[in-house]
Amino acid sequence: MKRLEGKTAVITGAGRGIGRATAERFAEEGANVVVADLNETDIQDTAEAITDNGGTAIAEKLNVTDREAIQSVLEKTAASYGQVDIVVNNAGITSDAQLLKMEEDAWDQVIDVNLKGVFNVSQAAAAKMKEQQSGVILNASSVVGSYGNFGQTNYAAAKWGVNGMTKTWSKELGKHGIRVNAVAPGFILTPMTEKMPDKALDMMRDKSVLKQLGATEDIANAYLFLASDEAKFITGEILAVDGGVVI
Ligand code: NAP
Repeated sequence: MKRLEGKTAVITGAGRGIGRATAERFAEEGANVVVADLNETDIQDTAEAITDNGGTAIAEKLNVTDREAIQSVLEKTAASYGQVDIVVNNAGITSDAQLLKMEEDAWDQVIDVNLKGVFNVSQAAAAKMKEQQSGVILNASSVVGSYGNFGQTNYAAAKWGVNGMTKTWSKELGKHGIRVNAVAPGFILTPMTEKMPDKALDMMRDKSVLKQLGATEDIANAYLFLASDEAKFITGEILAVDGGVVI
């Protein structure tokens, strides 16, 4: 039996990077996947890769700052597959600058997507999951959400907030059969990090006790475990998947 057989998962930011790897991994394990992201070409590519591989997926254009669009995607998901079993709040952006140079816009955009976006999607999904009396919400945190990072005031604040929401929602929603957890990746090679200078990537590699950067499948496998019934007694947890950056 596949680990997510018969389950339906909505994954935000699934057009590329960690989100795409998670969508592909979930589909391999039998989930119906809703590939939700901003970029039309990326979502079509991901959904096609999944269906070409024998999986089930639909592509939905979604901006996690748009609360009406979120409702509509969740309704379409329920209409297509019956339930919304799993939500992965993976969509995220960076807009780095040191405190004294950070523009208000950079603060607002990162908070809007990485913090409020997680709230928007989870609030709508939790209402559906409450009706079902079951569900799993998974949030993208970061090592930066527990130790801060030079030049990332906005991003650190958002990820710290994600950790707080994860713990709060696990307490509020547990009685409805809803588990809420987060994954805190270390430094993973994706389009988000590939734009960083080699020197910065070398520094990140060096911070890991394994002296490695992570791969997207390392994070996808963590989400898979937390989404599956193997983790049925785990909630309110922030799982570090970071090669030992934070110990
Ligand atoms: P990525 O390669 O940049 O992918 C992020 C995806 O999210 C992109 O497809 C992007 O779409 C999408 N997105 C951005 N804003 C959105 C919005 N408003 N609504 C819907 N989708 C949106 O990033 P990644 O490295 O895979 O990171 C995924 C998550 O893991 C993020 O939350 C990130 O903070 C977290 N994380 C990553 C690392 C790392 O080392 N990579 C470490 C710790 C945590 P566009 O392509 O159209 O912009």
